[in-house]
Amino acid sequence: MLQFLTNFFQKKQIDLFAPIPLSSCEVRKPYLLEREGISSGTVVMIAAPYFTRACLSPNRNLSAYAVSRDYHGFYRELFAELLPLLRERLPDRKFAGFADHSPIAELQAAARAGLGVIGKNGLLLTERYSSYVFLGELITTAELPAAAGEIRGCVGCGKCRKACPMDEIGTCLSALTQKKGALTQEESAHLLRYGSVWGCDICQDVCPYTEAAIRKETIFSPIPYFSVDPIPRLTLEKLDGMNDEAFSARAYAWRGRETIRRNLLLAEQNDPQKVGKGEPCSD
Ligand code: SF4
Ligand code: SF4
Repeated sequence: MLQFLTNFFQKKQIDLFAPIPLSSCEVRKPYLLEREGISSGTVVMIAAPYFTRACLSPNRNLSAYAVSRDYHGFYRELFAELLPLLRERLPDRKFAGFADHSPIAELQAAARAGLGVIGKNGLLLTERYSSYVFLGELITTAELPAAAGEIRGCVGCGKCRKACPMDEIGTCLSALTQKKGALTQEESAHLLRYGSVWGCDICQDVCPYTEAAIRKETIFSPIPYFSVDPIPRLTLEKLDGMNDEAFSARAYAWRGRETIRRNLLLAEQNDPQKVGKGEPCSD
């Protein structure tokens, strides 16, 4: 089965995956496993890289993870193809796929499976793609050859903490872009200063793992899904031009249109390039 999975993932351009015993994973949502009839077996951890050349756009106003289509769609498509193939090959085994809404602690499992180390920025740092990976996993009752290693940490240079604006603004900038409702004047000023309408990559950008992956040009995702329809710079015009289906495929959709619309309105009202072009200005 491992050879079959290797061939399948190779065809999908997924090069970071590794099996780990389910018994080595921290189960946080047991009901998700119970629902699938799985109590023991193997977890195949996957780290899918998503950083594309579009993420290097100097005008980018979205976090890199939000430039391509939502990764939940990627895993949905992947498992929709993989699970029936596995069930056909091994009908007496159970198989389930997860990403994000997972029964296990994904970050720790990925580190134990040897896919990377855990950074002080709270993310998995892989050698090829740094932290620009989305985690997902196949869980099966099949017992595959699998080993769990120790969780290793990053080199601990502290650059992420030093660069992080959290102390100054009192909250994570990424969380601030996702806050619902009206922003205070101070919060609006923070968003404008950092120029993001969704998310924050500062603690990833400054990390030496990222610098090395960019320098060596290994950072770019070979997975076609993440190169389709990239939007590195979102505008009100683009947002309003998206029908519900297009909008629901973006990573910022879960918060609803109004939150990101509010951020865009703020950014565009204060964009000096728009002043004099019939757009409102800030004063
Ligand atoms: S996402 Fe930004 S604000 Fe949040 S922890 Fe990282 S650097 Fe700090
Ligand atoms: S910036 Fe340094 S301390 Fe922070 S995650 Fe990267 S290697 Fe670790």
